[in-house]
Amino acid sequence: MLITRAVILFMSDTIAAVATPPAKSAIGIIRISGDNAFEITKKVFSGDISEPRKMVTGKMLSEIGEVCDYGMGVFFKAPASFTGEDSAELYCHGSTAVLRTVLSSLFHAGARPAAAGEFTRRAFLNGKMDLTQAEAVIDLIDSETELAAKNAAEQMNGRLGCEISAISASLTSIAAEFYAFVDYPDDEIEQTERDELAAKLYACADSAKALAGTYSSGRIFREGIRVALIGRPNVGKSSLLNALLGTERSIVTDIEGTTRDTVEESLRAGNVALHLIDTAGLRNADTEPERLGIKRSEAAARDADIVVAVFDGSSPLDEYDMQTLDLAKGARSLCVINKNDLGTVIDRSVFGDLPVIEISAKLNTGTRAVVDKICEIFNVSDIPCDGRTLTNPRHASTLNRAEERIRAAADAFGGGIYADLAVSDIEAAINILSEITGNSAQDTIINEIFSRFCVGK
Ligand code: GDP
Repeated sequence: MLITRAVILFMSDTIAAVATPPAKSAIGIIRISGDNAFEITKKVFSGDISEPRKMVTGKMLSEIGEVCDYGMGVFFKAPASFTGEDSAELYCHGSTAVLRTVLSSLFHAGARPAAAGEFTRRAFLNGKMDLTQAEAVIDLIDSETELAAKNAAEQMNGRLGCEISAISASLTSIAAEFYAFVDYPDDEIEQTERDELAAKLYACADSAKALAGTYSSGRIFREGIRVALIGRPNVGKSSLLNALLGTERSIVTDIEGTTRDTVEESLRAGNVALHLIDTAGLRNADTEPERLGIKRSEAAARDADIVVAVFDGSSPLDEYDMQTLDLAKGARSLCVINKNDLGTVIDRSVFGDLPVIEISAKLNTGTRAVVDKICEIFNVSDIPCDGRTLTNPRHASTLNRAEERIRAAADAFGGGIYADLAVSDIEAAINILSEITGNSAQDTIINEIFSRFCVGK
């Protein structure tokens, strides 16, 4: 079923929820939204909230009218509120007991518990924001680095919606030019006219592709970089991991095969998270657990964004080092020659074009360069965080679908096919793009998006 956003406000029941985390804190905030927000809040809060957007002090009352806290309250008159409805916020002391009491008092007065994301869902349905902005709210809450937060804030401000709308607007105006041709007999359309319109369509397809392409960087904002440390046993993978983390998370021993399973740890490198996966050493495994461990490390290398292949520089490369090198050559990778405190006997030419760094994990020298190199390989400092970097796989895949249809229209029309066939592809692309902003999105998509929110948001 298709949900079309109602820009006209509709009658809505009144919902309430605690908007702050369920933990002891200085302040706890309760949100109320819906047609009866004012009356319901008045029954629970003694302050005079009749003037919208004015914070006032007052008593919080339990459902039997007892004072349970002194705090502040504010009322927002529709449509000038987050949800677009009459809304109120109560600022209590952050005791979970107080918040529970005030909340049940609000329920007693006629509100009902808000579902996860229901405030933002109402904001979306009331036309206060498009779907990209609603999704940016979750991204902002989830963001763990300043760049991710900045990008999400810009998207919340509508930046991404604008980019999508710009492509849609171009397609709409191209479609209008096509309509002029629909009534022409097909052979009367000049090839130069066909080429001109096709070129305009290709430009739109390129814009969609470029925007979708930002997701590979945006995913790094959102999820960080997965780094698999691979190499034969005893080259110093665990020591490198520990040196990077400054802890003793991975067991370091000189008995081969101690890291049987994979160990995952995260560290922050400036504005991105690095998820380091220490894998079992590559070698012929004698025991079943080791064989499993090695399978897992091969899988980790496959799933990682980058492979860090570690070698013991103090001894000549053996067949397992060569296997490591093969894995590294088949992936985005960085080679690390470890144990340079013992001197290096490896001939660097075996690494070919792969980036190589020499370190001593034991002395913790050169290890920072490993992190810096990874960030450099992913161009972390150049990722734009102005809201035009996609962080959401839904946006990227939808844009790819739109691009396909636009290109199909361009190929077909440029190649002499009927104008009305090309128009149907353009219209399909416009529809697909509107799934991103939510102007026409399946309710399953919308439900899925809002189910990822927390209660109170
Ligand atoms: P892994 O099996 O690849 O994880 O290797 P470990 O990190 O467990 O290290 C194996 C052995 O090499 C341990 O005895 C470490 O102390 C030693 N080792 C690791 N890195 C260095 C290094 O940079 N220099 C020296 N001299 N020894 C190291």
